[in-house]
Amino acid sequence: MAQALTRSQSELLVRLLGVTKRYPQPDNYDILVLDDITLDIWSGQFVALLGPSGSGKSTLLRIIAGLAKPSYGTVLYRGRPVDGPNPYAAMVFQSFALYPWLTVQQNVEIGLLAKGVPLRQRREKAARLISLIGLDGYEDAFPKELSGGMRQRVGFARALAVDPELLCMDEPFSALDFLTAENLRSELLDLWLEQKMPTKAILMVTHGIEEAVFMADRIIILSKNPARVIADLTVPLPYPRNRKAPEFLAWVDQVYKIVTGGEEEPEAVVQDLTEPRPAGAKLTPIPYGHPPMLTGLLELVADRGGRYDLYRLGTELLLEVDDLLPVTDAAELLGLAVVDEGDLIVTPLGRSFVEAPPAERRAIIRRQLVEIPLFRLIQRVLHTKANHRMGKDFFLDVLEGHFSPQEAERQLNAAINWGRYADLFHYDPDSEQLYWAEDQTEEVEA
Ligand code: ADP
Ligand code: MG
Repeated sequence: MAQALTRSQSELLVRLLGVTKRYPQPDNYDILVLDDITLDIWSGQFVALLGPSGSGKSTLLRIIAGLAKPSYGTVLYRGRPVDGPNPYAAMVFQSFALYPWLTVQQNVEIGLLAKGVPLRQRREKAARLISLIGLDGYEDAFPKELSGGMRQRVGFARALAVDPELLCMDEPFSALDFLTAENLRSELLDLWLEQKMPTKAILMVTHGIEEAVFMADRIIILSKNPARVIADLTVPLPYPRNRKAPEFLAWVDQVYKIVTGGEEEPEAVVQDLTEPRPAGAKLTPIPYGHPPMLTGLLELVADRGGRYDLYRLGTELLLEVDDLLPVTDAAELLGLAVVDEGDLIVTPLGRSFVEAPPAERRAIIRRQLVEIPLFRLIQRVLHTKANHRMGKDFFLDVLEGHFSPQEAERQLNAAINWGRYADLFHYDPDSEQLYWAEDQTEEVEA
């Protein structure tokens, strides 16, 4: 249909060479977020950057837009090193990031003001964009008077006002309700395909597989811990795309397989964790998936013969891949299931788990947990202490030596969830202490 055929495909806009980003942590332990990312973005491309939460998508986008610097590696825009905010790029944020004390008109004008565009031109340009984006009549409104969808329209108008060559968007639809998001997606696609804006390339960060397949003609898939490019796909489906068409569904399925099966991280290898660890070994991250969700998921798949397509499972349970992955990760780490070719397959241990009464289920999980470094650490500490208690902060401190502060907190919360479920230890929210009670399991080797 109206695919952007006349837009030149021949200009190299962005070139990343070995871009690596580390964030320094307290006690000099760096976390590696982006690992050696090399890629080119050409004019004419609508690129989706797809990866799980926390994989480093926003970090990469900010580096490309010149809002952050890589630790190593080179970022070139039209062959020139990017040093500071890239004047050819504009950003649309998930949180809209509007100035609350400025009107719609003033918010849209802000980028033009920064570029020194004279007042009259600013007014005209902003008015035109406000109209283009469907906000006529709201010029003098303040952001707080607008709905989320209208605020994001202002976000788009503000970004487009500076005629960016490269439009960067960081999960621009994910804070909007379903219908509003769907409308805005179609409208943006329309502007892009009909070339109603001078933008030469779009780079959209998303964790939504369907969204990526619906909008982009190129999908770059990132792994997590650290982020590497695990796939770089060209989506040949013509626009407008039909979400129900078999070709569309086949693509979604294909991308789903890569996202769910593409992680070859050490923490997913269960066998490795049974080896004794040398002192000071790296803590491998544990997934956040919750015990009840894991149980439910395994029961469902076991009911369906022990093997089931993850994409269909996600759709049936109304779960986004971002919610589903932590649960399947947990199932894999605990040896209860494996993910293969986009299917979840229940292992023999997983089957005994599903068929066992609750107490035996806990015991199975317990035996698996004590093989995982973080649980070993917690166990060891609680057993060494005479009163079998230790403050949460102590473990947070240790974890912050291995993870970012937010990740450390999430890791500990996940550990507490699993530990309580399996009766490995308890948590007292009043004293913020983890503790082990004498009547608890003794299945602990030092
Ligand atoms: P995504 O956008 O894919 O969700 P981010 O790029 O926001 O991921 O973050 C990737 C990782 O980097 C996360 O583990 C996050 O905690 C960490 N991180 C992001 N910004 C900082 C920062 N300023 N300091 C330390 N760690 C950070
Ligand atoms: Mg992000």
